[in-house]
Amino acid sequence: MDDRPLVFLDIDDTILDFQTAEATAIRCTFTELGIPVDDQLIARYSEINRSQWELLEEGKLSRERVLVRRFELLFAELGLPHSGAAACERYEGLLCEGHWFMPGAEELLRTLSRGCRLFIVSNGAKTVQDARLRSAGIGPYFEQTFISEEVGAEKPTREFFDRCFAAIPELDLRRAVLVGDSLTSDIRGAKNAGLLSVWYNYRGRPARPDIVPDYEIRALSELPTLLRRLFPEAFIKT
Ligand SMILES: [Mg+2]
Repeated sequence: MDDRPLVFLDIDDTILDFQTAEATAIRCTFTELGIPVDDQLIARYSEINRSQWELLEEGKLSRERVLVRRFELLFAELGLPHSGAAACERYEGLLCEGHWFMPGAEELLRTLSRGCRLFIVSNGAKTVQDARLRSAGIGPYFEQTFISEEVGAEKPTREFFDRCFAAIPELDLRRAVLVGDSLTSDIRGAKNAGLLSVWYNYRGRPARPDIVPDYEIRALSELPTLLRRLFPEAFIKT
């Protein structure tokens, strides 16, 4: 029996710095469309984007609609005639081209891969996330990657996790933990799935009374120590 702990990791803003990747791709997309880009525009796009993903997490919008609608809403606000679908396609292409790590992420993966089974659980487009993992060169650290588009369900639904679990041999949920930066998709998802949860709250956001993580860390470097405490036998063997 494989008794290594199972660590389910979110990608965006947990392992890879999505905010930087997003800002870079958005700047480039808008510049190509002839739209003047400033920090305010990027911030407004991020705000709309986040609100649309939250609608997806609540089951109110499909993934395809979210991807295009975030641009449509912004263009409508700015009174611009551009196509949301075309902007989305260009943006997704650009997103695949670069990668930036969250602080300490590469070291974390090296450390954890010596004693844990690592899995990715991400809400994202399959082609984009695969390309970003390839570009970052971190695919080999993971036993399996579960991207919602391919899984056919989204975090935080129970269905998403049930489908992931069905694909994992020698699964022991008592030795499993999920780590992510989002309360609404990661921590709520862990709760729905019966997994221990670690909130990577690097932004120092206030707690929410309705979604309470089991543990909270501010830096990825705190995670190995926490896991050693949670699963002492497994780490001693490695
Ligand atoms: Mg995330």
